Amino acid sequence: MLIVKKFGGSSVADKDKIFNVARRCMEDYEKGHQVVVVLSAMGKTTDGLIAKAHEIDPNPPKRELDMLLVTGEQVSVSLMAMAFHVLGVPAISLNAAQVAMRTTSAYGTAKLKRINTERIRHELENRKIVIITGFQGINKYEDMTTLGRGGSDTTAVALAAALHADACEIYTDVDGVYTADPHLVPNARKLSEVSYDEMLEFASLGAKVLHNRSVEMAKKYGVQLVVLSSLTRAEGTVVKEGAKMERMLVSGVAVDKNTARISVIGVKNEPGIAFKIFNILARNHVNVDIIIQSVGREDRKDISFTVARTDLLEAMTLLNENKAAITAQDITCEEGVAKVSIIGAGMLSNPGVAAKMFEALYSANVNIKMIATSEIRITVLIDEADANRAVRTVHDAFDLAD
Ligand code: ADP
Ligand code: ASP
Ligand code: MG
Repeated sequence: MLIVKKFGGSSVADKDKIFNVARRCMEDYEKGHQVVVVLSAMGKTTDGLIAKAHEIDPNPPKRELDMLLVTGEQVSVSLMAMAFHVLGVPAISLNAAQVAMRTTSAYGTAKLKRINTERIRHELENRKIVIITGFQGINKYEDMTTLGRGGSDTTAVALAAALHADACEIYTDVDGVYTADPHLVPNARKLSEVSYDEMLEFASLGAKVLHNRSVEMAKKYGVQLVVLSSLTRAEGTVVKEGAKMERMLVSGVAVDKNTARISVIGVKNEPGIAFKIFNILARNHVNVDIIIQSVGREDRKDISFTVARTDLLEAMTLLNENKAAITAQDITCEEGVAKVSIIGAGMLSNPGVAAKMFEALYSANVNIKMIATSEIRITVLIDEADANRAVRTVHDAFDLAD
């Protein structure tokens, strides 16, 4: 069997954890399997590198930021190779340039395009464990790129697809996907299986246990994922097509605090304005989520939407530079907000779900600022200070606890 095993930052945070991972990988190797290991940067290294960059430059050039961030993963893979050396197992570390992990050119949000698997295959055939840097790639200018925060999961899935791996295991600090973040909701319940579509909503709406693009890619290439703990032997959660959901109305609750609201006030009530606003943002790779447009008064209207808080400075700068072109009288923003969402295929055929969520929020005295829905999710924007309480209240209201 060929197995891709990905370990997140907390799983390789120190020397003992690195040896723990090496020993777990050895078990598969000694059974005769081919083992590819994908690693994130140790512990909170990436956060530390970003903070260092901001000490020098509050708005660092994206190319240079990527050049800095890719160093984190390189530290983990080389140390892991040394741990295997100590344990007497042949292993080799490789970075994204060495395996030609090609991406689009957008620094900070690059998308994987193709991987040259020749070198990896060659090393595996020589009975080496191959350790590869997650999160990073190389673009057409031969520059280093990164795939967005949490992107190592996507590296692992891409490698599993390219190598036609028999298994893709994502090891982290929790032993599966739960009905809500178990660090926030202690009585959350572990899901034994979850479908790609629901997992994609979970991941996109703030449950960082899997990078959303990793789920998208797993669905596209039919890669079955297992989410497991690197510290216990508990059975994890399987992410796959047609997972048998447990006939629940709602599968889980997610919260996203990396959110900010922007309002473009008093734009002309005429065709093309929304296009201009969102085109400026899209061209600069700023993702927009919930969008609300007011009905309008005489010849003016307001358009509000949410962006990731980490994109707020860039979005506000872009909009202010184009204030006249988008006919805005004013542009305002608010940072202290959070998105709380319920996710579940079961809500498709159940009209009462939204009302139940809003009732729970009302009973907890939480004010709703914006609402967005799709067939399998309902999202509300609320004050960040209310977010944790809101998640627990909604989780209780839908009887999701263990
Ligand atoms: P890693 O460093 O291993 O990639 P992450 O921190 O990116 O780990 O993701 C794991 C974290 O995701 C958990 O520690 C947990 O707090 C969080 N999380 C959020 N929502 C969920 C959920 N529904 N199920 C499990 N974990 C969740
Ligand atoms: N180290 C990167 C991050 O913190 C990638 C990852 O952890 O997946 O975002
Ligand atoms: Mg992660």
